[in-house]
Amino acid sequence: MENFEFTKASTVQDALAATRSASSAQKLVRFVAGGTTLIDLMKLNVERPTTVIDINSLPLDRVGATADGGLKIGAMVRNSDLAHDPSVQKNYAVLSEALLSGASPQLRNMATTGGNILQRTRCYYFRDTAYACNKRDPGSGCSAIDGYNRIHAVLGGSQHCIATHPSDMAVAMTALEAIVHVEGPAGERTIPLNEFYLLPGDTPDRENVLRPGEIITYVTLPPLSDGTRSHYLKRRDRQSYEFALASAAVVIRLQGRKIQRVRIALGGVGTRPWRSLEAEHALEGHEASEANFRNAAQAAMRSAKPRQHNGFKIELARRTLLRALTTATTA
Ligand code: SF4
Repeated sequence: MENFEFTKASTVQDALAATRSASSAQKLVRFVAGGTTLIDLMKLNVERPTTVIDINSLPLDRVGATADGGLKIGAMVRNSDLAHDPSVQKNYAVLSEALLSGASPQLRNMATTGGNILQRTRCYYFRDTAYACNKRDPGSGCSAIDGYNRIHAVLGGSQHCIATHPSDMAVAMTALEAIVHVEGPAGERTIPLNEFYLLPGDTPDRENVLRPGEIITYVTLPPLSDGTRSHYLKRRDRQSYEFALASAAVVIRLQGRKIQRVRIALGGVGTRPWRSLEAEHALEGHEASEANFRNAAQAAMRSAKPRQHNGFKIELARRTLLRALTTATTA
């Protein structure tokens, strides 16, 4: 780990001012909250900030209702607190299930909402500076494409990067149509989570649409209509403390057995939390039946592109979605 300057901010304005001043002195700035991604990567020399701003004191650690009956989640809310929040468990079960399927209890006690959204890929080549990696070192190449790519993406990859996004929480929030609220030098703005992440294309080092100096302050979830059901299902190599090989988040409303509205996102298979409009279109207005669920699962993975070691993810993702839809629609 290299030396860095360390400073603390107790308000969002403090944090933005500290960023402005460090950036104008040509410093490479990172915010640290729970530290569950950043500190690991600093120890590995993958992240080498010259200024670290501690934002643990920012007053963004509350979960509350929005004026329209949705949910407002502060960026500093810990994953454990969010997973066990009564309103999340009652109204947004998919989010609680996703959070509790991630990491370990100790990590969930530290990890924050904002940090979880921004966590970096678990691609082993990205985390090992002995290997070429376009995301860590633009233009150096991608060691995964012709390397061992069992955990890599089958959706959204490019010839420059096929790393998956590792977050479970972000997959559930994508299905819930979450809005990310940010603050920066140009003021406040909101970004739908589904538009927050960038595909790797030929710039895999650019992972999201945050502008320099911006900080995530809140995430809001829209209210769900009465009778909406939801479920998160995660498949992985072991049942705890492991990232998804495939996961599915389903938010669905039925009238009788007819699907009125459904939102679907997949994890573990895409270069970003993967909203599947194809699967949604295959289901809306149709009967909640096994045959239709199978059609939707086929549609979700139709554009998948397997590499040498990860072809199994295509069928695994189909089965994961089929099971998640079945569970969500079974009374
Ligand atoms: Fe780097 Fe992406 Fe290739 Fe992994 S898949 S080595 S993160 S460029």
